[in-house]
Amino acid sequence: MMEFDYVIVGAGLSGLTLAERIANELDEKVLIIEKRDHIGGNVYDFYENGILIQKYGPHIFHTKEKKVYDYLSKFTQWTDYEHRVLSYVDGKLVVMPICIDTLNKLYDLDLDEDSMRDWINEHKEDIGEIKSSEDVVLANAGRDIYNKLFKNYTEKQWGTSAANLSPSVISRIPFRFNHDDRYFEDAYQGMPKDGYTKMCERMIESDNIHVGLKADYKTYINKINYSKKLIYTGPIDYFYDYKYGELLYRCLNFVYEFLDEDSYQDVAVVNYPNDPYFTRITEFKKLTGQVVKDKTAIMREYPGFNGEKCYPYPTQEYLDKFKLYEAEMEKEENVIFAGRLAKYKYYNMDLVVKEALEIFEKEIKQ
Ligand code: FAD
Ligand code: UDP
Repeated sequence: MMEFDYVIVGAGLSGLTLAERIANELDEKVLIIEKRDHIGGNVYDFYENGILIQKYGPHIFHTKEKKVYDYLSKFTQWTDYEHRVLSYVDGKLVVMPICIDTLNKLYDLDLDEDSMRDWINEHKEDIGEIKSSEDVVLANAGRDIYNKLFKNYTEKQWGTSAANLSPSVISRIPFRFNHDDRYFEDAYQGMPKDGYTKMCERMIESDNIHVGLKADYKTYINKINYSKKLIYTGPIDYFYDYKYGELLYRCLNFVYEFLDEDSYQDVAVVNYPNDPYFTRITEFKKLTGQVVKDKTAIMREYPGFNGEKCYPYPTQEYLDKFKLYEAEMEKEENVIFAGRLAKYKYYNMDLVVKEALEIFEKEIKQ
């Protein structure tokens, strides 16, 4: 029977980063157990009809962290890409996040930076302490902007009002008093040149790494010989057999289709805050820079509580419940927890990689 030093549950970016470090820097043996039939977790992409599709929705790499960018650059080259999003409101396509051009188009105005500040001062609400995501928008831009661009999108995305969600959710979106129409301001932005799956495959090329797909770790863990630690990147409530009850994760259903046309929309992502069912449409070619003639692929995202577990649920009830699990996690001596599902945190890819690199340095390499 094979022997391993570490077992890693989950082949997402978190598990793969840890596997790569352990195998290549420590020359130790790792078994990765992954429930799905592919590696990559939520960044998995694949070709269909000649077009690169991101199975779990649009993923744009962006970071302020040079260390993370340099690390991933060992496994991929990058295609230059700066993400731009339009939102379809009142029959118009307006820039998201809010900037001078958003207000000018939405309200037929001709604002500059100073007059935008005046406009915002007239419209924003005086909200003492910011307690929710709704408060964030009302305090920054006022109720009409909230109603048109945020209210319904957020209710649809999360199945509850922005008034019930932690301020951190909508605070992901900046408000700008300039013409910067990029979704992200980070210094490093781009798309992996050959796709995320290729990048992930290169991360785990070492002979020290073995991967078992289509396997829930609970079925196998007692039969595996490993001498050091278990690294767990799956949902934390499942790890503890739901002893404090289920944590809520918001799910998405991703529906894609192919169209016999060169181009479907002007930018890679268009948000539809006021459509009753889906949140946004992604056109993959615009994201990846792939050149394919007379054919394109688009994806709609339908939020719900069934489907792929995508987001930890940032209401007080579940953040409090997570704290009960967190107290248990702190007591574990032979298990390391990492990633979005185990830490119940709304991490972007870069923070998942950053966390994994830090765990490796502080808790594994020693
Ligand atoms: P995951 O990718 O979820 O990997 C965990 C893995 O563990 C999964 O493959 C799962 O199948 C496996 N697993 C779970 N339970 C078990 C079990 N019992 N046994 C075996 N295996 C198990 N980030 C960005 O930086 N930019 C973006 O543009 C961006 N867009 C996003 C869009 C969407 C729709 C979503 C949902 C996320 C987006 N993210 C984005 C976030 C990004 O997907 C995550 O930060 C990252 O993929 C998390 O990696 P992870 O390894 O923590 O988790
Ligand atoms: N949001 C919104 N309208 C939009 C875009 C975003 O109300 O047009 C809100 C929504 O609640 C979303 C949050 O802002 O969950 C954060 O948006 P982001 O694009 O960062 O979410 P992601 O898709 O990356 O998880």
